[in-house]
Amino acid sequence: MEVWEGYATDPEIRFKGSSGGAVTAIALFCLQHEQMAGVLHVGANLESPLQNVPFFSKNKEELLARTGSRYSPAAPCEKLKWIEQADSPCVFIGKPCDVAALRKSQSINQTLNDKIGLAVSIFCAGTPTTKGTYDLLATLGVKPQGVSEIRYRGYGWPGKVTVKVKGSDADVHQLSYSECWGKILSNFGQFRCLICPDTTGEFADIACGDPWHRKVEQSQPGYSLVLVRTEKGREILHRAMRLGYVTLAPAHISTLPRSQPALLNGRRTLFGQLLAMHLMRLPTPSFNGFSLIENWHQLKFWNRFRPVLAMLWHTISEKLYRPQKKYLSGTITVNEDFASPAVIKTISREET
Ligand SMILES: Cc1cc2nc3c(=O)[nH]c(=O)nc-3n(C[C@H](O)[C@H](O)[C@H](O)COP(=O)(O)OP(=O)(O)OC[C@H]3O[C@@H](n4cnc5c(N)ncnc54)[C@H](O)[C@@H]3O)c2cc1C
Repeated sequence: MEVWEGYATDPEIRFKGSSGGAVTAIALFCLQHEQMAGVLHVGANLESPLQNVPFFSKNKEELLARTGSRYSPAAPCEKLKWIEQADSPCVFIGKPCDVAALRKSQSINQTLNDKIGLAVSIFCAGTPTTKGTYDLLATLGVKPQGVSEIRYRGYGWPGKVTVKVKGSDADVHQLSYSECWGKILSNFGQFRCLICPDTTGEFADIACGDPWHRKVEQSQPGYSLVLVRTEKGREILHRAMRLGYVTLAPAHISTLPRSQPALLNGRRTLFGQLLAMHLMRLPTPSFNGFSLIENWHQLKFWNRFRPVLAMLWHTISEKLYRPQKKYLSGTITVNEDFASPAVIKTISREET
């Protein structure tokens, strides 16, 4: 409905946020002026810092502790019951798939539906697996069990990966965002993310991402691209602007594709990928309302066949055409504590 560009007016939120801190600033506005009870979102587990867990933040300090993108598996919906049990409506923050799951839960759970005050999505090109973080740590020469804190972004835009080692405040390892995402984490994508139709939070009230159309100098003050997707989102965002929580200027609708060419290309190739899965008689999701054929036609004629061929190759090389052994076996091994890879527990399929 509307496209805006800007940042959290509070300099601390802007600095610590992944992009311009807009997500955190809007959530804080909801706590302080919209009588919302709390914010369900994810952050690092304090005892096991490589693992992400849900939190129910109730003030600025708690929100600030969970700013920044976590480029590893995270599941805020695990604790939707916290929202159900709250005294008044709440804010939900998650990736586009988290918000899609939230909307499905809302549709079958009236109590939850009544308690969703605002759903905010971050843009998402795909969640790297936990192995991606292990690879990142190996590049930095840090053992997973030695990590006391890991930040993937933020503290400037786009910010650096920062890893602190247990036992010494001075032992800090850093890597630039482009090296971390471009050379390491993007190699650890998950298959389900490869065929995701919604990378910009189409089910959310408000969605935020990076305005990459700007030339970014390392660690400059951040900027957010803010998309209004529902009337509720528009009302809340405008009130947050009026009270000075976010400083935003209207942006042309073309700012979104100019900022996210990779996400747009992903949408354009999706029909070809699904077609290949269908040809291989794989279970293929059906995505309605995403204009997949129209998007596919925006590719040059010969380019339309590349995703088909790439997916056929992927299907064959990964042997996706037959049931995966790991889903059929009787047990599954779970690394319960990401900080100590030695702690492995085997549980039965029924328990899962
Ligand atoms: C895996 C991943 C891929 C991304 N890909 C893109 C992309 O392609 N293009 C783009 O523009 N932006 C992408 N982002 C989003 C971007 O990094 C920023 O999160 C977004 O712009 C919001 O910035 P902010 O400063 O407003 O958020 P902040 O104020 O820093 O708040 C971030 C919020 O996001 C929540 N959060 C962080 N990590 C996760 C997670 N893994 N799952 C659920 N919630 C989380 C936090 O709890 C926090 O509330 C990605 C983020 C992730 C986690």
